[in-house]
Amino acid sequence: MCPHIATNVDMQILQGIAVSPGIALGQALVIEHEGLVLTRRLVEPAAVAAELARLDGAVDAVGQEIERDRQAVAAQVGDQYGAIFSAHVQMLRDPHLYQELKALIAEHRLAAELAVHQTLRRYARVFQEMPNSFLAERAHDLRDLEARLLNHLLDRGPSGAAELDAPTIVLAHDLTPSETARLDRRWVQGFVTEAGGEGGHTAILAKGLELPAVVGAGSLLADVLTGDCVIVDGDQGVVIVRPTPEYVARYERELARRRSRLAVLAALRDLPAETTDGHRLQLLANIEFPHELSACLDRRADGIGLYRTEFLYLGSDVEPTEEEHFEAYRQVVAAMGPRPVVIRTLDLGADKMGHLPRTEDEHNPFLGLRSIRLSLRNVDLFRVQLRAILRASAVGPVQILFPLISTIRELRQAKLFLHETMEDLEEAGLAFDRNLPVGMMVEVPAAVMMIDHFLPEVDFVSIGTNDLIQYTLAVDRSNKDVADLYQACDPAVLRLIQATLQAARAAEVPVSVCGQMSGIPHCVLLLLGLGLTEFSVPPAALLEVKRVCRSVSMRRCRAIADTALQMQGAQEIDAYLKEELKKVVSHESESRGS
Ligand code: PEP
Ligand code: MG
Repeated sequence: MCPHIATNVDMQILQGIAVSPGIALGQALVIEHEGLVLTRRLVEPAAVAAELARLDGAVDAVGQEIERDRQAVAAQVGDQYGAIFSAHVQMLRDPHLYQELKALIAEHRLAAELAVHQTLRRYARVFQEMPNSFLAERAHDLRDLEARLLNHLLDRGPSGAAELDAPTIVLAHDLTPSETARLDRRWVQGFVTEAGGEGGHTAILAKGLELPAVVGAGSLLADVLTGDCVIVDGDQGVVIVRPTPEYVARYERELARRRSRLAVLAALRDLPAETTDGHRLQLLANIEFPHELSACLDRRADGIGLYRTEFLYLGSDVEPTEEEHFEAYRQVVAAMGPRPVVIRTLDLGADKMGHLPRTEDEHNPFLGLRSIRLSLRNVDLFRVQLRAILRASAVGPVQILFPLISTIRELRQAKLFLHETMEDLEEAGLAFDRNLPVGMMVEVPAAVMMIDHFLPEVDFVSIGTNDLIQYTLAVDRSNKDVADLYQACDPAVLRLIQATLQAARAAEVPVSVCGQMSGIPHCVLLLLGLGLTEFSVPPAALLEVKRVCRSVSMRRCRAIADTALQMQGAQEIDAYLKEELKKVVSHESESRGS
């Protein structure tokens, strides 16, 4: 799979940011940006009209090219990615930009390519220096647009897709959306970029394509040649260039192990999620993009337990319209048929800003204006989303979920806006489900402490362990310097989960866990033992969780949870649960005779 090219250059291991999981081996395809050499050409007064026409021609041609790329990407990963290209078209057709270009040509007599180069570089620099990482990423779009226009003005033709005929890892300083769109999906196995962050397009598209990717790997291109063997470890954020045969063998073994595991899991698809003593569980999926639906349907999810809606903002730098919200929800609800879809209202802020400006003095964004707090302060934005969710509830069984609720007042305010929006829809004669279940996320310790007051006011709760862990242990979930302190199995976290489950059971309010923890096999044993029967997990974890549930009895899980809860530290609990999981799984393989 990995070519062995005689080389006297040593193996290199680079650490970057893991943005899309999985591992891949293949030969490198290095995408170089051609160096630009522009000569300073001025146009004669008599030639200005012709130069303006040249600019118009290039703008039209680029508009068509972007549309072709949009269609190519939509065919591969779904329409929602069209937003990336719509943003390019908007920039291209921006009247201010056009006026500036025209003025440089007509008044300053610059050649069209110089006008484009100067203006778009200047815009890109302004964006690049913005502290908001989403806006800083837009600099990249402007450079992409500049390259497209220059290709036409200088008659270079777009850099076409390389002909591929073997498993390939694409390496670039920073892939532009147009470059990504032209890659041959049959052979591309993974992406690595020197630049970029989690919110960048490479990251978004790689996740959409379910291809392993590492971004922000630092300067590596000088040391890689097209054809070199490369391993991308998208779980660890590691890139191995020219691996030794030992590394290749190790990763090939791991790939083979993953493939056979997938085959075993696939056999569970049509079996119920049920413990060995007959307790039937609900196995729901967490999704961010409508295109993830096929994986959920294929793995027979009982519904969508968490539909994160932030992607509508992260793929675009303009406010999504009510129709765009509605269409994204309608697709999912229609595809899930009678199965429930829990749509969570916007959880923007902190690490997910979209195009919203960050307040200058927000020193602790995770403790700042995020999530429901942001929605309650931006009522117009909130109402647009509420209207769309309500309209989607006429299509199928929708439930609405409010994130990061910390106080009763916040929950009541959110519900009030929801009810007001219902009145508006009723007046407008639009259909919706008046009884749609309303739930809240329990992801702040304050919500657990007050859970007995919250429960009578909601139809369901969903425990968000990702945030519950960070707010309980005072550990930033995205800070790698304290990653070792971020422990799902910390006894303090477990007690909060237990308290929520007990209170919800007593009040007969359905409860699920939708944080990452509920998709981790050894934690599944513990959560089952604590009484959890509704799991909402990433699509990739659905079958693994089903496998754990089907190999253990509820009785045994209760005993495991009792023992774990007497322990004092996360490491001890983790080790114990992993040991128990090994016993459960090996017992299951023995009893199936494998
Ligand atoms: C959580 O906090 O556990 C959760 C599911 O929400 P998010 O990861 O989107 O913050
Ligand atoms: Mg959360």
